[in-house]
Amino acid sequence: MNSRDRELGMDRPIRRRDFLNGVAVAIGAPLVADYPLLAGQSGGAQPASTYYPPALTGMRGTHPGSYDTAHALRDHTFWNHADKPSDTGERYDLVIVGGGISGLSAAHFYRKAAGNGPRILILDVLDDFGGHAKRNEFDVGGRKLLGYGGTYAIESPSPYSPIAKSVIDELGIDPYSTPRVLDRKLYPSLGMGPGVFFDKETFGADVLLPDPKPIKDADFGDPGTTETHWKVFHEQAPLPAAAKKDIQRIYEGHDDYMPGLSSSEKKARLARMSYAKYLTEIVGADPAVVKYFQTRPHAYFGVGIEAVSAQDAWGFALPGFEGLDLGTEPGPGISHDSIQNDEAEKYWFHFPDGNASIARLLVRKMLPAAIPGNSIEDVVTARADYARLDEAGSNVRIRLNSTVTRVEHLGDVDSAKEVEIAYVKDGKLQSVRAGHCILACWHSMIPYLTSEISERQRKALASAAKVPIVYANVVVKNWTAFHKAGVNSVYAPGSYFNGFQLDLPVSMGDYKCPRAPEEPIVVHLMKTPCRPGLPARDQHRAGRIELYGTTFEAFERHIRDEMGRSLVSGGFDPARDIAAITVNRWPHGYAYEYNSLWDPFWLEGGEQPCVVARQPFGRVAIANADAAAYAYTDAAIDEAYRAVDDLLGISRG
Ligand SMILES: Cc1cc2nc3c(=O)[nH]c(=O)nc-3n(C[C@H](O)[C@H](O)[C@H](O)COP(=O)(O)OP(=O)(O)OC[C@H]3O[C@@H](n4cnc5c(N)ncnc54)[C@H](O)[C@@H]3O)c2cc1C
Repeated sequence: MNSRDRELGMDRPIRRRDFLNGVAVAIGAPLVADYPLLAGQSGGAQPASTYYPPALTGMRGTHPGSYDTAHALRDHTFWNHADKPSDTGERYDLVIVGGGISGLSAAHFYRKAAGNGPRILILDVLDDFGGHAKRNEFDVGGRKLLGYGGTYAIESPSPYSPIAKSVIDELGIDPYSTPRVLDRKLYPSLGMGPGVFFDKETFGADVLLPDPKPIKDADFGDPGTTETHWKVFHEQAPLPAAAKKDIQRIYEGHDDYMPGLSSSEKKARLARMSYAKYLTEIVGADPAVVKYFQTRPHAYFGVGIEAVSAQDAWGFALPGFEGLDLGTEPGPGISHDSIQNDEAEKYWFHFPDGNASIARLLVRKMLPAAIPGNSIEDVVTARADYARLDEAGSNVRIRLNSTVTRVEHLGDVDSAKEVEIAYVKDGKLQSVRAGHCILACWHSMIPYLTSEISERQRKALASAAKVPIVYANVVVKNWTAFHKAGVNSVYAPGSYFNGFQLDLPVSMGDYKCPRAPEEPIVVHLMKTPCRPGLPARDQHRAGRIELYGTTFEAFERHIRDEMGRSLVSGGFDPARDIAAITVNRWPHGYAYEYNSLWDPFWLEGGEQPCVVARQPFGRVAIANADAAAYAYTDAAIDEAYRAVDDLLGISRG
């Protein structure tokens, strides 16, 4: 350990679980899913009362050990070693592969449609249910703090469908009630607003400034008076003077940079060029401007402005289009994330653990004993009883730490009455049978699970390369340094993490958000690893590999370094102030969304791979947000409904 590491506090005890290089050691690979927490458990046994994944810190999300079996399948080494699965003797009406929002919603719809309490088994690789919708809990000096380890909020660029809304309604959630639970005025009342951190490796000096033009809401801080902020920006931002002038011109100018073209001609051109190219070649901005805007779209697209179309940047409300008179109607090729819709914007709700509460409410509906309580307020603080998820007498069972390795009809696909589902749990290869099966897992996994689909469908499924993303939650003992520095959120265009922010001030039921800077709080950091310059899918692939190879220790060092340097003016000391760290790693994160730069069919109106990918075969249907190529909770729900419809024809009544 060098002196910088000691300064950062890399030697300080914090709440986390360490693994050798961040990866659990696979004993005798590939059949062994070696996760120390579960040592000694066998398939079907009840977890001990101490089994409580939300409270684990360290590397979470796709946690160490969870992907060994899946990667052995991918590498074609699994079946070389595997024995025949041993039949558990369990028979179900429906087996669902994947316990994310889509899998849980599929169980919900199937139960409603099939009547008479169908027997359903949900299998998931991870040690907790909810898929991306994950909950992080922290205990800081006896006080419970919650964070979202994945899915942040009920929000979608397009309005929720009647089907998706019906689920939200049935769960008792009113997304229009946000003003009752979210205190938008808290941070502004403390003089805190959004900041920008320029790091010395990218910009030549470490400087934190108020953000002169924060993105909308910027996690509910005070955007401040723009005039003062521009003055400070011109005086202190470590950028060439020409670039600073250009940045203000891009934000506030009204020039038509594409004179002589109609609105639709402009949009057609914008759809075919990157935003970076638009800024430098059409707007004529100093190249340093690109560095400033580079990671603005990361949180949605997972790539920077050199890989996002200018039309998408316009739709996404990035600046530089004010004088182009583009109207409000998007042109062909606009991506889902760039559509603005007032109705969709109002349908917004954030639980303290994000949409993990939706997953928990769905589980509560099917297994009331597993999540005590009966309101959307008490679900926030309810402690789930994991021992109740997979009980022998129950009609619905959720079996965690179980990687499905094969799904096969028993007999001819078109006439078989049963499907056999093989899975590995605790290093044992087992099987169950079911009348129906829904694959609600990541589409890129499905070609490794079945040989019963066409080459065309296999390719379409494999093309759903997800966007890698990291959500880190860091508990700090107090946020006086944020208060002193005057920031509640920080955009860090050149740093390892794209930025960070204090948790949203949401109080529900017994859960009260921290309100005074002297209290502990969760700070949320985000990163979408990518390789600027490559096509988007290749960037995601490279980012995914990077994530698997990054140790917890490396994440921790970046967290301490970035927070320490950004907040130096507030007196933040990472060695003293950090109490706990959870890194939620999602190498398979957002569903890939089509866009005009990288998917010609999206611009020119060809067949969408997700439509080919989601076709049912025999007694098996396919769900997951990937089935809509749309990275939102409503898509996961809608596709669950469609998959149940594929099996039972529920939409036909
Ligand atoms: C970090 C992050 C933040 C997000 N924020 C938002 C947001 O704010 N609002 C929003 O609407 N959407 C958001 N999304 C997208 C949203 O989370 C997803 O669209 C939705 O939750 C996906 O649900 P799903 O069930 O389709 O997939 P998932 O949640 O990915 O669930 C699929 C499950 O399948 C399991 N699985 C995979 N292979 C196997 C196998 N072989 N055997 C058994 N199980 C398997 C996985 O472990 C996983 O649990 C976010 C996504 C991420 C990653």
